[in-house]
Amino acid sequence: MNDIRNIVILTGAGISAESGLATFRGPDGLWEGHRVEDVCTPEALARNPALVHRFYDERRAKLAEVKPNAAHEALAALDAAWPGELLIVTQNVDDLHERAGAKRLIHMHGELRSAFCAACGRAVPWVEALPPASPCGGCGQPRMRPDIVFFGEMPYEMDRIEEALRRADLFVSVGTSGAVYPAAGFVQTARHVGARTIELNLDPSAGSFYFEESRMGPASRLVPELVHDLLA
Ligand code: NAD
Ligand code: ZN
Repeated sequence: MNDIRNIVILTGAGISAESGLATFRGPDGLWEGHRVEDVCTPEALARNPALVHRFYDERRAKLAEVKPNAAHEALAALDAAWPGELLIVTQNVDDLHERAGAKRLIHMHGELRSAFCAACGRAVPWVEALPPASPCGGCGQPRMRPDIVFFGEMPYEMDRIEEALRRADLFVSVGTSGAVYPAAGFVQTARHVGARTIELNLDPSAGSFYFEESRMGPASRLVPELVHDLLA
């Protein structure tokens, strides 16, 4: 891997599975027993704010019981040591990458420990429960909502991500099912510009065939191995 300078790493729910956070389960994509349509869409939030807020309150509270695993730690070590460009793009809404020490990080689907005002757009760190109709500290409107990118909403920082992908020599995907766009398409952009592409996952994913190389196993083993090779 001597010729690699610029790296983009995409992570998904699988990297946090060994920390004790559930991934989507089953063909219908249940998240902790809830259908995606009931907790991950703007329509669900409008229809049943109590349910949606409670769901993210529970996910946020759970963060206090878990800690980063060897995969998060290895990526943070790579971030600290890598002399070239590096960007970790996570689809996860947990905070395990930053708690492991990662700095060059984008939460493209938002963060559990953040809330924003649907009236004025102001985002603020949020650690406690977030009752529906909580007032905004900026404009005063009772419109604070979880800072989660729902299906049908635009992910964050797509420009910066696209730019990093276009400069990448290596693209790595860790623990993501390759089912949710636009993240599922990043591998195609990376390939288009000639980057090497590696997938790390427990099982082959929906997008496996786009990758030059797929390594199967738990993230807590595969990620430290890859980081070791990169830093060797
Ligand atoms: P997903 O749940 O659809 O897929 C998880 C993938 O991880 C699967 O391909 C599975 O084979 C793999 N996996 C499971 N355990 C693994 C392990 N120990 N090591 C390596 N791979 C493992 O996840 P997704 O593709 O990230 O899409 C889910 C969406 O739901 C995301 O957008 C995210 O915002 C949200 N989500 C987030 C969290 C979180 O923040 N921790 C958890 C669940 C869902
Ligand atoms: Zn506001």
